[in-house]
Amino acid sequence: MTTYTDRDIRQRTRDLIDEVGADAGQVEFRSAQWDAGLAVIQYPEGKGGLGAPPKLQAVVEEELQAAGVRHDSMVINPIGIGMGLPTVLTYGSDQMHETLLERIFTGEDIWCQMFSEPSHGSDVAGLASRAVRDGDEWVVNGQKVWTSLAHVSAYGMLLVRTDPDVPKHRGLSYFIVDMRSPGIEIRPLYQITGEAEFNEVFFTDVRIPHENLLGDVGDGWRVATTTLMNERVALGGSTAPRGSGTIAALTSTWEKRGPELPERQYRSMRDRVARLWIESEILRLTTLRARANSTVGNPGPEGSVGKLASAELNQRIWDTAMDLLGAEGMLHDPGYPLDRAAGPSSGSISKGFLRSQANTIEGGTSDIMRNILGERVLGLPGDVRVDKTVPWKDIPT
Ligand SMILES: Cc1cc2nc3c(=O)[nH]c(=O)nc-3n(C[C@H](O)[C@H](O)[C@H](O)COP(=O)(O)OP(=O)(O)OC[C@H]3O[C@@H](n4cnc5c(N)ncnc54)[C@H](O)[C@@H]3O)c2cc1C
Repeated sequence: MTTYTDRDIRQRTRDLIDEVGADAGQVEFRSAQWDAGLAVIQYPEGKGGLGAPPKLQAVVEEELQAAGVRHDSMVINPIGIGMGLPTVLTYGSDQMHETLLERIFTGEDIWCQMFSEPSHGSDVAGLASRAVRDGDEWVVNGQKVWTSLAHVSAYGMLLVRTDPDVPKHRGLSYFIVDMRSPGIEIRPLYQITGEAEFNEVFFTDVRIPHENLLGDVGDGWRVATTTLMNERVALGGSTAPRGSGTIAALTSTWEKRGPELPERQYRSMRDRVARLWIESEILRLTTLRARANSTVGNPGPEGSVGKLASAELNQRIWDTAMDLLGAEGMLHDPGYPLDRAAGPSSGSISKGFLRSQANTIEGGTSDIMRNILGERVLGLPGDVRVDKTVPWKDIPT
């Protein structure tokens, strides 16, 4: 097995940029990045990676940023790249690897995740959508909710109940579903920002080929856990350059508004902004340290540290930026509320503040992150779970 150094990876990335050009189109650039093994460096050769330590991905990103390459995975295909890629790589067949992986990375196929249901968000293992086998196909009926990007997705990761007679975690199966299949209806849900990032998805006699199963029948919870662990790292594992991202929105608001404040308020606000800047830097360095120590493979429950910390910090930052705006923060851009003709509102402070309310819910709530960290990282006694051994069909709903 080849051992790669920081220098090798830097050189390979520079060669890629020279060859394709920093301003090449998204699909062209990312397809070449995939072929060069620089897409997800820990993946096997021929599958977007080089089998190299995950920490070297930071070197690729540094070089891409320095050269002005602007294709950001978490904007292009956040669910596909953050969660679809590792799940399909871990459980998919060679045929799936061949047809699906690269197109996820290039953003040619957008993906969504269909786990949550109207009565089953935190308790996703209790979900009720059913799949019944019919020869070489499965027939799905039920409803999903909060499905981000379903309206633009080519494929979805679907968790459904295939056996109601066994305890809830054991009766689930996991499928890849073509979102253009007959019987799928997608209805937008509008958020307080005025946008509709997510949807309700209804399944009526939707037929999915058996070959689209990931893992075994009844093994869906294990596959879903891989998706969820990767989701937490995708949401909480950002290592944007120092002082950039959300904290930059706060510091630039501070530069404009701070000097206008009365002396006493100026001083207390300055302390608040400085404290948040320091916390952002601590989180960035902690994430870099976690990345440097990570090994090849899927993340474990420790990924919830970054998700919990970044969600709560992000809310405090936007909250402070809104306080700096004072009464002006109550004004909203065109596009709010629900002015669909005006399109999405711009990246304003008020929009950032409203959007950040979702941070402690999406990808698992902060309460659930604390449960995971308490039980699976710190080894504290578990939450009370009275339905764990009861057949799903006998659990009162
Ligand atoms: C912007 C956004 C995008 C989303 N995108 C997707 C998506 O693409 N795909 C998808 O499948 N889902 C998605 N979700 C759904 C998300 O995963 C769920 O909203 C989340 O898991 C919480 O579930 P719930 O809304 O049903 O709340 P509930 O589970 O009903 O929780 C209600 C409250 O009870 C608390 N609670 C519940 N159980 C416990 C417990 N055991 N211990 C302590 N407290 C508890 C929760 O913390 C919460 O405060 C998205 C949500 C948002 C906000």
